[in-house]
Amino acid sequence: MLGRHAIGHTRYSTAGGDTVANLQPLCMKGHFGWISLAHNGNLVDAKKWTETLENQGSIFQTTTDTEVILHLMAKCKDRNIPEALSAALKEVEGAYSLLVLTKDYLIAVRDPYGLRPLIYGQCKDAHVFASETCAIDLIGGKVLGEVKPGEMVLVNLSTQEIITSEAIAPRKLHRCVFELIYFSRPDSEMFSWPVYEVRRLLGRELACEQPCEADVVVPVPDSGMAAAIGYAEELKIPFDIGIMRSHHSGRSFIQPKQDLRDLSVRLKLSPIKSIIKNKSVAIVDDSLVRGTTSKKIISFLKEFGAKEVHVRISAPPTISPCYYGIDTPTKEELLASKLTIKEMQEFIGADSLGYLSVEGMNSVVGKGFCDACFTKDYPTLVPLRCDKVSSL
Ligand code: AMP
Ligand code: SF4
Repeated sequence: MLGRHAIGHTRYSTAGGDTVANLQPLCMKGHFGWISLAHNGNLVDAKKWTETLENQGSIFQTTTDTEVILHLMAKCKDRNIPEALSAALKEVEGAYSLLVLTKDYLIAVRDPYGLRPLIYGQCKDAHVFASETCAIDLIGGKVLGEVKPGEMVLVNLSTQEIITSEAIAPRKLHRCVFELIYFSRPDSEMFSWPVYEVRRLLGRELACEQPCEADVVVPVPDSGMAAAIGYAEELKIPFDIGIMRSHHSGRSFIQPKQDLRDLSVRLKLSPIKSIIKNKSVAIVDDSLVRGTTSKKIISFLKEFGAKEVHVRISAPPTISPCYYGIDTPTKEELLASKLTIKEMQEFIGADSLGYLSVEGMNSVVGKGFCDACFTKDYPTLVPLRCDKVSSL
């Protein structure tokens, strides 16, 4: 694309469904001119605001929560864009890391809890913002720091001058711990943690809490890799790549139906027979959500000759959905919300199943994290249902 300034967002649909109209950035024209908005995170009160704004005459063009912010900005008639944005954000509740592009400004804002990440850097004479440091590294830029919770960073596009201000008062810090456990790339630094290292430490802690006597530790690729290395190091058990991952088969997690998810896992993952045959195998993954991945892996490991399969998870059981922008199924679909650990072990067909405790996780990552999908301790009020399509 030609141009001097750009924003974009590879957003999967966590609110409002996956229609073309919901693609980001949202571009709209108000009394202040054209504005484009990219939003990482989810607002938890979008339904309430959509109803209120529609009753007041607003016409929504999408079904995504993000549009609420634009309508609230349009109501602040006498203000300039940064002020209108700040006023709109004072009304809404939830998770947002936002990039806003207008004729005159590039604006970055982060929600007052710091739920979703947002960092900034410099590449030659350009200012760059991204969720993860690896994005800035790979374009040859330099990471300069995090946009702080509640902070607005405003880049004047004519002068390149940066002005930092408080868009909304910061609240108790709740950075998403799942970014460290699974979501971020291992070559990033997230919330001041090198992601790979924190995962390795989670694996070590898991080994202390949930040891097992296995011949070999095998990671579930790719996200279980660092935790499995830590697990094997701590227990002094050989580590090996016993499962191959095909990078051409798409993502199992977001397939809409169970039979498609089953097939997708089988196409994606495959055993290396010489590593697992006649062995007692410990597989390490970062999470067990519906149980599809582990169940399928255990069945093919046993089919290809593994004597025993022990499953170790480098996070606590996922018992509750995320309302802040991570795609999780409804509570009813979350295995750990309805089954005991023993029952889950039987469901997936493992010889044993062990999770990291919440305390163990916290002892590694420290304070200032949201862990609501493991504890139900949400930093905000949350909707009664976690449902993509009915969330607006
Ligand atoms: P499941 O197969 O439903 O038990 O999901 C567990 C697998 O999905 C693990 O290998 C995780 O690494 C991965 N996973 C967990 N949460 C997510 C998510 N929100 N989006 C995509 N993949 C995920
Ligand atoms: Fe992250 Fe879980 Fe909190 Fe969602 S509920 S923001 S996934 S820690």
